[in-house]
Amino acid sequence: MKLTYLGTAAAEGWPAVFCNCEYCKKAKATRGKNIRTRSQALINENLLIDFPMDSFLHMVNNKLDLSAVEYVFFTHSHLDHCSPVDLFFRAEGVYAHDLTKKDLTLFGNLKVAERLENIVKAYKDEPFGIKFSEVKPYNPVICGSYKVTPLRAYHSSGEDALVYIIEEGGKTLLYLHDTGFPFDEVFDYLVRNRIKADFVSYDCTYVALPSGGGHMGLDSCQVLRDKFLALGIIDENTINCINHFSHNGKLIHDELVPVAEELGFLTAYDGMVIEI
Ligand SMILES: [Zn+2]
Ligand SMILES: [Zn+2]
Ligand SMILES: [Zn+2]
Repeated sequence: MKLTYLGTAAAEGWPAVFCNCEYCKKAKATRGKNIRTRSQALINENLLIDFPMDSFLHMVNNKLDLSAVEYVFFTHSHLDHCSPVDLFFRAEGVYAHDLTKKDLTLFGNLKVAERLENIVKAYKDEPFGIKFSEVKPYNPVICGSYKVTPLRAYHSSGEDALVYIIEEGGKTLLYLHDTGFPFDEVFDYLVRNRIKADFVSYDCTYVALPSGGGHMGLDSCQVLRDKFLALGIIDENTINCINHFSHNGKLIHDELVPVAEELGFLTAYDGMVIEI
């Protein structure tokens, strides 16, 4: 399974759109991996996690064929994860030609369904196009070669925010964005279903600051990693990677890498490719 991190920032991006803080100025001056766009990841060539406002930029920067994507799993309805306007331009004829795959299925909770309503309506009379399928915590979905299992995230009170287990080709990925320290029911599910993760992507929005609420930072990522180890959900061969960073967390990518490495974590950057 191949994972490509397309966007690795929290909601406002890094540099944040209107921000003049020291850490945004530093990112603008140094560029490279210190520039982070909004959260999105691609599995192989055909499964996307989330569709933020930077999807167009991700397509350009990574030379992607987005028409090859067959499945989009939405984590929750926050704007930096669910910004569906560009899905209108998948309509074949005027906006898009020679689609690699005719059909695209969007998976998400009911709040995501509300945000996608106009898109799905626009495609409803097409013989192919875009469909929506509701997903619920702990109800696995089989699509193509994937088994995708939503887990309840500790993130947003107005909806069932989700994080995902993605299994394919004998490999298992835990994608934990956005969430604070997971609920006990998540650990129970992982243990009961004997999930052994080859790769874990940890929410690290707070970076070096003390974390709490619906996001994590380096402090809680370590506690979570150790708990996964103790429960046998990961082992010494598992790759642990931090992702989804806010400029308020202070350390730009170049500064964060050695700190995270010392603690046993890889640090995601836009365009990072991992073979799992
Ligand atoms: Zn987010
Ligand atoms: Zn800033
Ligand atoms: Zn969020």
